[in-house]
Amino acid sequence: MKHILIVDDSKTSLAAARSVLCDTYKVTAVTHGAQALRFLKSNTCDLILLDINMPEINGFMVMEKIQADEAHAHIPIIILTADNDADTENRCLENGAVDFIVKPFVPAVMRSRIGRILEMEDMRRQLADKLESKIREVCDMRTQACSDIMTGLLNKAYTEKAVADLLSSGERGYLLMIDIDDFKSVNDTYGHIEGDNLLRGLADILKKHASESDIIGRIGGDEFLLFVRSGDKKMICAMADSVISDTKNLLRNKEITGNASLSVGIAQYPEDASDFTSLYTAADKALYHVKQNGKNSFHLYSDQRAKETARGKELITLQYLNDIMVHSDTCGGSYRLDPDSFHHVYNFIRRFIAQSGRDAVTLLFTARSDEDAVSPEKLERAMDNMEQAMYMSLRRADVVSRYSSRQMVTIIMDADAERGTIAAQRIIECYDRLNDGCGVTFDFGMAQMEKPDIPTRV
Ligand code: GH3
Ligand code: MG
Repeated sequence: MKHILIVDDSKTSLAAARSVLCDTYKVTAVTHGAQALRFLKSNTCDLILLDINMPEINGFMVMEKIQADEAHAHIPIIILTADNDADTENRCLENGAVDFIVKPFVPAVMRSRIGRILEMEDMRRQLADKLESKIREVCDMRTQACSDIMTGLLNKAYTEKAVADLLSSGERGYLLMIDIDDFKSVNDTYGHIEGDNLLRGLADILKKHASESDIIGRIGGDEFLLFVRSGDKKMICAMADSVISDTKNLLRNKEITGNASLSVGIAQYPEDASDFTSLYTAADKALYHVKQNGKNSFHLYSDQRAKETARGKELITLQYLNDIMVHSDTCGGSYRLDPDSFHHVYNFIRRFIAQSGRDAVTLLFTARSDEDAVSPEKLERAMDNMEQAMYMSLRRADVVSRYSSRQMVTIIMDADAERGTIAAQRIIECYDRLNDGCGVTFDFGMAQMEKPDIPTRV
């Protein structure tokens, strides 16, 4: 049953209106504007019949207060008044009343006007509901069209458009291109469902580090873009570092072992590029640099460019190149490298032996100790001695690297398993001679270097 609130200081008029309406509607009748406003604080109704001429708060003031309240502004108000002049009628309608009934009213006219207005109000509400649900539908469709379903981030097309739009509006910022390292092996070892979970986990990490106004999207299988709109180089480097270490923790928590990690290439706008396409290319080049240099890290395009620019100031000759490279390799023993450089040389040697038909073995030496926990100082001394032993025992062509705090690795050129074992024993004997009783011994593992299939170029 529709509910009508009647506000009139004339008790006679109130009783008459009530008796006309009470068969069809639920009726609440009050004699003061203040009472009507109090009623609406904790109730609502479908229509208000409001007298204009009332003491203290008149009908216009009551109407103004009701319409200022968002919860009740939609309730249709019909004015009841004895002033049957055009001015009053105009004023009522201008102030938002939907209709105007002159007192003393004719019951049939009052019933029909109220009935018509409630009907129109129902239609208005139905249309408003339909419109709202259509708007929601269109919004959902737009959101779906922009989204990457798997991660809930923006998809490739919308990420690129959103960043390009920002740049054209003069926004500055950093573009981070992010790619999971060795993701294929995660799929191969743990299955695509676990691979998908890792992608979702990385999306959550990016959301955690980005702010509301940054743009994050998945632009390919395991590739993401993040456009950061504020900050400086130091802050961006710290952010990239945290994203990489959070990814390491995620992999650890998921018990994913192997070489999966994260690489990030960073370019800055407008310092590194003049539009979206060139910014994207710069970030991609920086990412490529990380991928070529051991992965699991980040790199800024600006650093790479600065080095190239510095080197590019003078043109060098081949003689000069030979002189500086040879100058940096004056030692007699094996060739010592950090693990990242070792990684490159390892792959280079694999290609080289595949082409030349020669052999090579890899030896991995691991420090062991009888004591439960050997002190870091003793372990460090033992590693130094081992490094020295390898340097002294191997030839110039052999490559050595300290792989971790307790492992050394070397590539012995032109060696099969027998020659490799002899070299390993020679190294251990040399270590034993240098060893100063620190209680650390080394054992070794050996692997024949596999030759990659290199396509022959015609
Ligand atoms: P890299 O270290 O050079 O980045 O090598 P990668 O193994 O990570 O391989 P790359 O980035 O070139 O290729 C991404 C792989 O991601 C290829 C495809 O097998 C896999 N992939 C693409 N889309 C999806 C996906 O929606 N879900 C899963 N689980 N894997 C995907
Ligand atoms: Mg990848």
